Amino acid sequence: MDNFVVSARKYRPATFDTVVGQVHITSTLKNAIKSKHLAQAFLFCGPRGVGKTTCARILAKTINCFNLTENTEACDACDSCTSFNSGQSLNVYELDAASNNSVDDIRNLIDQVRFAPQLGKHKVYIIDEVHMLSQAAFNAFLKTLEEPPAHAIFILATTEKHKIIPTILSRCQSFDFNRIQVDDITSHLLEIAKKENITADENALHIISQKADGGLRDALSMFDQIVSFAGNNITYKAVIDNLNILDYDYYFKITDTIISENISQSLLIFNEILDNGFDGHNFINGLGEHFRNLLVSKDTVTIQLLEVSKSIKEKYNEQSQKCSVALLINLLKLSNEADYKYKTSKNQRLLVELSLIQMSSFGLMATESVAEKKNDQPKQVIEKPIVKTYTEAEQKSEVVSEPAPMLPNNVPVEEVKVPVKKFQSSTSISSSLNKPISENNTNTTIQEIKTVGNGTTPFSEIELMQVWDEFANNINKKEMPNFYASFTQHKPELKENYVIQLKIENVVQQKELTDERFNILSFLRSKLKNDSIDLVTYFPTVDDSQRKPYTNTEKYKRMQEINPNVEKLRQSLDLDF
Ligand SMILES: [Zn+2]
Repeated sequence: MDNFVVSARKYRPATFDTVVGQVHITSTLKNAIKSKHLAQAFLFCGPRGVGKTTCARILAKTINCFNLTENTEACDACDSCTSFNSGQSLNVYELDAASNNSVDDIRNLIDQVRFAPQLGKHKVYIIDEVHMLSQAAFNAFLKTLEEPPAHAIFILATTEKHKIIPTILSRCQSFDFNRIQVDDITSHLLEIAKKENITADENALHIISQKADGGLRDALSMFDQIVSFAGNNITYKAVIDNLNILDYDYYFKITDTIISENISQSLLIFNEILDNGFDGHNFINGLGEHFRNLLVSKDTVTIQLLEVSKSIKEKYNEQSQKCSVALLINLLKLSNEADYKYKTSKNQRLLVELSLIQMSSFGLMATESVAEKKNDQPKQVIEKPIVKTYTEAEQKSEVVSEPAPMLPNNVPVEEVKVPVKKFQSSTSISSSLNKPISENNTNTTIQEIKTVGNGTTPFSEIELMQVWDEFANNINKKEMPNFYASFTQHKPELKENYVIQLKIENVVQQKELTDERFNILSFLRSKLKNDSIDLVTYFPTVDDSQRKPYTNTEKYKRMQEINPNVEKLRQSLDLDF
């Protein structure tokens, strides 16, 4: 390991195509270069270590290259490229605003901006952590940003977009960098390991990627740390020891004890965890995440939300088969409560232990669900001490009738909304289950929206359609795909007194349109110069028995019709609908 170069530097991407996990940005930049429509000021926003500065440098190199490849990448051979590669190019100027945030620093930069580049066409000024600039520095900079010389390109990078003042925001083309997916980081680490002749366990690299929380740079420095600790063989054990991570196995084991209602065993495992020097808060958080992972594993559609390696995924899948959705939701609630109370608790150990005891007494539900699946073993349910006493007839129907209550397959995927990463509150799951969307009333009563000054100019249906399409084109389809669909699915009809009637499909669309109603009306009224325009939505009433249940409440009611025991289960769990 002589001449050790940290991986983050050694493997810093040198072309747009090798940037990890930011295709939406690199392809836009490439297109802009190709079509010669490059903006002069960019704002790169996003968490640390996801490639903002890297992209800025690649951009600087590419636009100065004398001999762009067909794929709009720098040639790596011309004079400009070689000066970039050796770090000697004068066409890229980096200012770290975190440590150089004074007016003088900015004046220094502004002075430089006046000079045209000696080699190449553009000078690129990268200001990192631009939100750290002082107010005076910001003001001094504004003028230059407003009228930059043709050769200058500014790239402002920040981790905190909300701190950027609007005057700067409005002058920049803004790009939002993603946190990088665990899988992307893992495969990048695998490649590096291969190039460095390091053998690495994929599970181990997965843990590193997870811990990096979307930041590639952090992942790479952890990788380096472990290489220097464990040598050229990165094992799972080396990683969890070195990064002080609680082994997955503990969570699997403790969940098994909860399912089998083995209270004493769960307390013993917790004790072992504390003895190994782990913090109780850390444990309860990890346990919550474990339950969340089990919940998403219950469905083949949501299982992709699991950001773990393949072998661990199988383990999750296997354990999740032993738990019902209802059990997992309750466990999540309990772990979340413990997490919430932890900081203020006087006896934190007891708090966690109590939670474990409560969790273990929920194990019953898990076994119920298993019994329901295996109709040949109905006795399991009856033998267990049940929270609520059933009559014999009820017990029979409980076991035999199909479909079983809360069985994973019966719960439509969209009902179990789980935050993708780092869930913070389990209530988000239960509340999304419980929240009824405004019931199916076909006549919408919405508060009046008033605008004035547009007059009451008559317009034709054709004119309406033009303005309608214009509004539709302005909808950000990526961010609001559902709203776009609701808005464009049916053609609006022009009725008397400038009332526009729009057919929609369901209450969800109705809600989306209601939320955006103000914007829609303001737009239509000003464009068509008519303040009397109103928007009414309707959806055709279908015979209730034929209508597909859409809202959670409707789905629940339908489940209840098919199996009345669902309601009993709901009551015994004290779920709120
Ligand atoms: Zn070149």
